[in-house]
Amino acid sequence: VPSTPARTRFAPSPTGYLHLGSLRTALFNYLLAKRTGGQFLLRIEDTDRKRTVPGAEERIIKDLRWAGLDWDEGPDSGGPYGPYRQSERSSIYKSHAETLVRTSHAYRCFCSPERLKAVAEINLKIGLHTQYDRTCYHIPLEESDDRASQGQEFIVRLKDPERQPFFKDLVQGQIRDGKVKTALQKANDSFDDPVLLKTDGLPTYHLANVVDDHLMNITHVIRGAEWIVSTRKHLIMYDAFGWTPPIFGHVGLLLDKAGSKLSKREKAFDLTEMQEDGVLPEALNNFLVLLGWEYKQQKSDFATMATLKEQFDLRLTKGNPTVSLEKLWYLSPKH
Ligand code: GLU
Repeated sequence: VPSTPARTRFAPSPTGYLHLGSLRTALFNYLLAKRTGGQFLLRIEDTDRKRTVPGAEERIIKDLRWAGLDWDEGPDSGGPYGPYRQSERSSIYKSHAETLVRTSHAYRCFCSPERLKAVAEINLKIGLHTQYDRTCYHIPLEESDDRASQGQEFIVRLKDPERQPFFKDLVQGQIRDGKVKTALQKANDSFDDPVLLKTDGLPTYHLANVVDDHLMNITHVIRGAEWIVSTRKHLIMYDAFGWTPPIFGHVGLLLDKAGSKLSKREKAFDLTEMQEDGVLPEALNNFLVLLGWEYKQQKSDFATMATLKEQFDLRLTKGNPTVSLEKLWYLSPKH
């Protein structure tokens, strides 16, 4: 447990409803902030307009409030706070993308979508893992500025420095070996100047996520293991901006009994459904924390939220716990 207050966040994309895995991530971030006397923030990552599901944001907020995971601040003054919403912050990301272009860590790419598609198809055919051929990488800044001011459409891409940042993960340890390395290696092979800003001027997940974690002074990022491959790109961006990255902890994913990843569509794991079935928030929080936490007092099956806030630490299991709902039903008095 850090000795200074941790500032954490939960950053869901409203592309679906919360499920047990995402609630568990939110809970870990919440408890880490509470345990250290820090703050917990909610940030809605709604920059991918095409994938946004209508009503998902409202449901996420409702489910988090039901679970008792209230956040400590928001863009408005005075509580109860609304969440930070990335769709309301687009000018911030735009100016940060511009900074990276000016410092030569990123470049404008004027290639048309048709050309990009054709290049990606050719590369795939000849067995190259990269999708882009870096045609615009070498355009001098002056020419790039001219073309932009003439109104030519562009996206902004990060320059891949072709080195592999390793990092120490709070949960997984040194990110170099085993499965994680395979995932990273794969990402590395197909790492080709990721897009930071789209033609509509909106940021991609990578840019908005890094800029916000920095501007919001986030100290610890606890998120699902599926984001490990993105962390490499993020670390390159922290470096390019000259910022100190937060501490990362990637927790294992929850599996159902058949060994598959829990899906947002799976009815049995739907939070609203659980609320209607009489699952109590304290029972659910307990169930989720104990699934992944090497809890000290194994004597008891149950810890109150107050105890969790006092005792939670980051000794999280790195495996992929299997969710068995019988245990949850057993913790809920109605069953
Ligand atoms: N918006 C991402 C998600 O939907 C956030 C991942 C992260 O925590 O950085 O999970």
